[in-house]
Amino acid sequence: MSPARWDVLLIGAGVSGLTTAVRLAEEGVRVLVRARGRPEQTTSAAAGAIWDPICATHPLVPQWSSRAYDVFREMVRAGRPEVSLVHGIEASRTPIPSPRWAHDLPGFRECDPGELPPGFGSGWRYTAPIIDMPPYLGYLERRLLAAGGALEIAEVHTLDGAPAPVVVNCSGIGARQLVPDPEVAPVRGQLVAVRNPGVTEFFAEHTAQLDELTYLLPQGRTLLLGGSEEKGRFDPEPDLAVAEGIIERCAGIVPAIATARVLGHRTGIRPDRPRIRLEQENRDGRHVVHNYGHGGAGVSLSWGCADSVLELVRDLI
Ligand SMILES: Cc1cc2nc3c(=O)[nH]c(=O)nc-3n(C[C@H](O)[C@H](O)[C@H](O)COP(=O)(O)OP(=O)(O)OC[C@H]3O[C@@H](n4cnc5c(N)ncnc54)[C@H](O)[C@@H]3O)c2cc1C
Repeated sequence: MSPARWDVLLIGAGVSGLTTAVRLAEEGVRVLVRARGRPEQTTSAAAGAIWDPICATHPLVPQWSSRAYDVFREMVRAGRPEVSLVHGIEASRTPIPSPRWAHDLPGFRECDPGELPPGFGSGWRYTAPIIDMPPYLGYLERRLLAAGGALEIAEVHTLDGAPAPVVVNCSGIGARQLVPDPEVAPVRGQLVAVRNPGVTEFFAEHTAQLDELTYLLPQGRTLLLGGSEEKGRFDPEPDLAVAEGIIERCAGIVPAIATARVLGHRTGIRPDRPRIRLEQENRDGRHVVHNYGHGGAGVSLSWGCADSVLELVRDLI
């Protein structure tokens, strides 16, 4: 592969990497994506994935998430089958005021007490994008190739010596070794997919106890049940005890879930970081733009972060 052929070597083919690569390639930047595995093997492929900006930290989260919301809404309008706009309830077991960010969303209103499942003290409704991640990543990959980009499956061992003047680092939890950045920490997440017993609205628990966050995300005939947040765990195998706990908690919201057929399990390692790292770094005269550490909100921030990377890359090439 000729070194002069690419403007950017982008590491990572999860939602951060592919979205950023599409954004760059469609603006005429020549992008080679290199990733250790196929997109469907990433954490991104395991995500639920509902638009919800709260599980990541950075001052630009409101701007990035709002941009992603708009792009997903446009995709729904354009008839993309991987994205849907779903109405539903977010609820807290203790009575609390609804968060300010939810008030600006389409369909927002406070719930009447009779709308809430047993044991919940407050809740609010809104409409949010839900993305069917495995086919959505396939769609992003096709869009990248159509815009002249390329995807190569290979491990990257160093950020130095790339076959392009600019490196964009979207390696998720891989940044821990690659940069290296000890601030990126693994938070394992697990979901259970069941045959949908007729749920058409999402339900998401609002709680500070994220290790046992309960949510239901309808995706047509499949219903995704969540979830778990297990700090420090890297193992990819589904933990059946965790899965049983998820099913039991979700059946407390919709009793029919207790007997729904289990279709499969999903696990992924969220790249948690005290603050998302989206910035340019000069490494011995080489330009690296970092875009990692999105925790539990990488899908929700993807298009906004991609815009910010594009701005930085434009200044560099
Ligand atoms: C169960 C679960 C549910 C979730 N639900 C939601 C949700 O509802 N909404 C939401 O917004 N987010 C959700 N998330 C969080 C979201 O999935 C992550 O924030 C997002 O996937 C991070 O994407 P990423 O592209 O940065 O990382 P990843 O998807 O992990 O991709 C990293 C890429 O980098 C590559 N890579 C790493 N190191 C190297 C290397 N050295 N060489 C080559 N390639 C390398 C990997 O192969 C991979 O392609 C959820 C996560 C989980 C686990």
